[in-house]
Amino acid sequence: MNMGGGTAMEDMGVHLQGVQKSFGPMKVIRGVDMEIRRGEFAVFVGPSGCGKSTLLRMVAGLEDTTDGKIHIGEREVTDEDPADRGVAMVFQSYALYPHLSVFENMAFSLRLAKRPKAEVTKKVQEAAAILQLTDHLEKKPSQLSGGQRQRVAIGRAIVRAPEVFLFDEPLSNLDAELRVQMRLELARLHKALGATMIYVTHDQVEAMTLADKIFVLQGGYVQQSGAPLDLYDDPSNRFVAGFIGSPS
Ligand code: ADP
Ligand code: MG
Repeated sequence: MNMGGGTAMEDMGVHLQGVQKSFGPMKVIRGVDMEIRRGEFAVFVGPSGCGKSTLLRMVAGLEDTTDGKIHIGEREVTDEDPADRGVAMVFQSYALYPHLSVFENMAFSLRLAKRPKAEVTKKVQEAAAILQLTDHLEKKPSQLSGGQRQRVAIGRAIVRAPEVFLFDEPLSNLDAELRVQMRLELARLHKALGATMIYVTHDQVEAMTLADKIFVLQGGYVQQSGAPLDLYDDPSNRFVAGFIGSPS
């Protein structure tokens, strides 16, 4: 089956059709269509307040849509509970439990879901290995560096083996050097897991280096979408040019 935009349904990662969002009288998202392929690293960029987080939260199910449809894979999830969508979100504030060890922070959602103990241990150890946290599993968050804490937050998403990872400016609390390092780690993680990822940032360097496909948001619409170099070389309007285009 084909979904109109050219991507076969079985290749579909996340699909938005006519999505709108208002808060009271304020229209934040006016009409967004998007096709993100399975396994693709998609990045939403745009100025502060343009609705990047709102859009991501609608994909996660943390915010209702005012109108439109959202598919994850072949399933329509527009009215599904967040827990049923097969997504996991990583926030800018790591939101770790300070009284729990790194292991227990990563195990938390699996324990809630009453997964068998052996499975919990295996999944946490696998995630820890990917994130180089194996030697830190018994520590408390307060004993970790900022980068390690952010990796624990990512580990909490990995153990759930989601179809789609959602990142909301996960590196913006880190210093510049660590941001560069974590950027490389995220790229490595994407390669290792092969999962669909949607990543929100207002940092154009992050967008250019991480994305398979960039969506430039402004004024409630997607101004342009495409591969980073295509947007850079051939921005469709002055806004896109100013944001990521080449300075010609
Ligand atoms: P971004 O992530 O791009 O900075 P947001 O999605 O956080 O933007 O916000 C987009 C707009 O929607 C902003 O004007 C913000 O104030 C508003 N907004 C976001 N969430 C709510 C809410 N729960 N209630 C009212 N307004 C909101
Ligand atoms: Mg935001």
